Amino acid sequence: MVVALGGNAILQPGQKGTFEEQYENVGRAVAGLARMVLSGRWRLVITHGNGPQVGNILLQHDAAKAIVPPMPMDVCGAESQGFIGYMIQQALHNTLAREGRGDIPVATVVTQVLVDRDDPAFKNPTKPVGPFYGKEEALRMQEERGWHVVEDAGRGWRRVVPSPDPKAIVEKEVIRTLVEAGAIVIASGGGGIPVVKEDGAYRGVEAVIDKDLAGERLAQDVGAHVLLILTDVDRVRVHYRKPGEKALDRMTVEEAKGYLAEGHFAKGSMEPKVRAAVRFVEGGGERAVIAALAQAADALEGRAGTQVVR
Ligand code: ADP
Ligand code: MG
Repeated sequence: MVVALGGNAILQPGQKGTFEEQYENVGRAVAGLARMVLSGRWRLVITHGNGPQVGNILLQHDAAKAIVPPMPMDVCGAESQGFIGYMIQQALHNTLAREGRGDIPVATVVTQVLVDRDDPAFKNPTKPVGPFYGKEEALRMQEERGWHVVEDAGRGWRRVVPSPDPKAIVEKEVIRTLVEAGAIVIASGGGGIPVVKEDGAYRGVEAVIDKDLAGERLAQDVGAHVLLILTDVDRVRVHYRKPGEKALDRMTVEEAKGYLAEGHFAKGSMEPKVRAAVRFVEGGGERAVIAALAQAADALEGRAGTQVVR
């Protein structure tokens, strides 16, 4: 199974983002995952979001730019994978060890995800990243660093980057090898580090890949039976926040495609989850489940969440 942990599994809205807060959240999230592993019925590959963490890393680089050269976005993404992967692998090991299964290896793979240089997203950057700026500074960044900046709903100016579609997980072979050797692997954090391939060489690009769509690629690559997307809502809804709103226990791929076409799911949040679920099942996966983190175990048994089936 591939489990995708949403942003709030690591940092909740309103929290400051101290290490202690994040480690505590991660501890709670992995407790549920550890039970799945201890049941002996599942082998896990874990992926996770990185929005708030990479936002803070970008802010740190920016604030210290007079002292230490700021790093490009792909490097910040790699930093966030290491940081979050470290917390998950340590917390998960400690939880398993308390149950006498400290022998199960847990490891994080810094993961690159191949994107297409001709992806239309590169002509239309839409994903806001990093800190808010004043207008003047934002426009200077646009001038000096070639950033695309937009005004974000009256809250200030923000950089936007392309959100291209993930094509392939570069480290898929090594991830498979680790899974086959019995390891729990944490991979493709934050949607992976976006790279393009030119003349046989990989190069990082300034972009952000959706973590659920990258999680789906990962799930195909490891031959997962189930893609479990854990977030902060209990089920997928049609007519979300409108009259006639309805939470769905189950939808077929055909139904999901209809709802996607009708625009029931917000872009950048629920839409990519449903799209990932559809791709996974169409690509041969048994089922995809979208559920609240707190209901992970029930969702896996089909008693909670939204089940997406053929
Ligand atoms: P994550 O960090 O888990 O990826 P997101 O914020 O990206 O979380 O996506 C989950 C959010 O999607 C929910 O909090 C909810 O507000 C929003 N959402 C948008 N459309 C829908 C919908 N049709 N049904 C349920 N939730 C929706
Ligand atoms: Mg999301």
